[in-house]
Amino acid sequence: MGKYIMSFDAGTTSERAIIFDKNSNIVSVAKKEIKQIYPKPGWVEHDPMEIWASQIGVAAEAMTKAGISAEDIEAIGITNQRETTIVWDKNTGLPVYNAIVWQCRRTKDYCESIMEYKDSIQQKTGLVIDPYFSGTKLKWILDNVEGAREKAIRGDLLFGTVETWLIWKLTAGKVHVTDYSNASRTMLFNINSLEWDKDILKLLDIPECMLPSAVSNSEIYGETVSNYLGGNIKIASAVGDQQAALFGQKCFNKGDIKNTYGTGCFLLMNIGDKPVISDEGLVTTIAWGKGGKVVYALEGSVFMGGAIIQWLRDELGMISNASETEELAMKVKDTNGCYIVPAFTGLGAPYWRPDAKGIISGLTRGVGRYHIIRASLDSIVYQVNDIIDAMKKVAGDINNVYVLKVDGGASNNNYLMQTQADISNSKVVRPTCVETTALGAAYLAGLAVGFWADEDELCCNDSMNTEFSSAIDEAERNDRLAGWKEAVEKLM
Ligand code: ADP
Repeated sequence: MGKYIMSFDAGTTSERAIIFDKNSNIVSVAKKEIKQIYPKPGWVEHDPMEIWASQIGVAAEAMTKAGISAEDIEAIGITNQRETTIVWDKNTGLPVYNAIVWQCRRTKDYCESIMEYKDSIQQKTGLVIDPYFSGTKLKWILDNVEGAREKAIRGDLLFGTVETWLIWKLTAGKVHVTDYSNASRTMLFNINSLEWDKDILKLLDIPECMLPSAVSNSEIYGETVSNYLGGNIKIASAVGDQQAALFGQKCFNKGDIKNTYGTGCFLLMNIGDKPVISDEGLVTTIAWGKGGKVVYALEGSVFMGGAIIQWLRDELGMISNASETEELAMKVKDTNGCYIVPAFTGLGAPYWRPDAKGIISGLTRGVGRYHIIRASLDSIVYQVNDIIDAMKKVAGDINNVYVLKVDGGASNNNYLMQTQADISNSKVVRPTCVETTALGAAYLAGLAVGFWADEDELCCNDSMNTEFSSAIDEAERNDRLAGWKEAVEKLM
């Protein structure tokens, strides 16, 4: 048995390789940024060949740095930026177009034109119709790249998201698969029956022969051909980045919830083995499939998370770096009645007001810079709390979300975490290993090959987490939440 598991983290801005030992310690890391291509306003692309070359390059670099050879690595797990769409020619191995990145809005008009199908698409896929998901991006390539649809019908073109592309390349074209978590972000996959949906494929005019086989998140898909990393290494997991973080945070039980505090916030709640469809603006997604069982999740996002801190720094010039907000916010005892509703790009779940604009309410002469900074951090907390509340409502029999597992850049802010614990009345747990995404992919791969015997063995690896518990009483919590609701109502 090899001593290590290697994760490939194929993210939006960089490719990384991280090697973990059995105690989940990071032994080696290598990273390479990838180019962001913006052909038009609202359009975002990557070069698939650059993704592949960078990923294999960082893998070799991480191994070389630590003096690790292919035999030392028991398996590779892959986690990736989700929804990003690649179509390539299976005969040449070359993409027919750049990768269309999840952020790309080019199919907005098409999405609007099929809104009459929104209920049936949501029942089948768990998703709302939006350019974000892969299906309409794939359709765009077939409609706009000369000769693509004919070639696809002939069986010469293959579709995949980034994990599919990397696995196909690593196995020299032998294995064409996607995992359930990534498949569930295509808007083409029925999350109830675990099959590509023939009606949606027909609606979008996508030939089924170009789609990968959908497989579980934890099994051996194939092996790397030996010329890349100096040996044949098993590829034993693939999982979308947010679902990987949910697994890496060990949210194994129904009701377990994690939030990633980055530019935006991504919340996922494990809802067990049955999908629940939301009317609260949340999407339903496959968290993972493993050992013949599928676990579902509710997902909600906050557009302006850490981004409001960037705004304080870059547009208002109120701070010089993000981390000083912790100290500055604590210079005052409260926000002095001030609330910020950061609807800079509309207000997301559960309000769903795409055209709303942000406000600062409760301004008096007594409100100063520290209050504004504190209210900015609080605005992240309130938005996250609204999503947790919506999730509790949708998930039904989960009344008590007690533990919130956190990660992402802004989770280092202790004031922010304490306030989240206060307002959500839950225990907030921040792990020492913040690489939860890469760790989740490593766990799923390690479990598939017996590197770790079972999930309990992973649970033993918790050391030195930081925990925050509520330090306010219910009356104060209700009071502050009422102030937030009142501020939100001003822009409805
Ligand atoms: P992403 O992966 O979305 O780029 P990161 O996880 O790197 O984001 O987090 C960066 C975001 O978190 C930025 O928006 C930044 O303003 C915010 N941030 C980082 N550190 C802190 C901090 N200590 N306090 C508050 N916000 C922070």
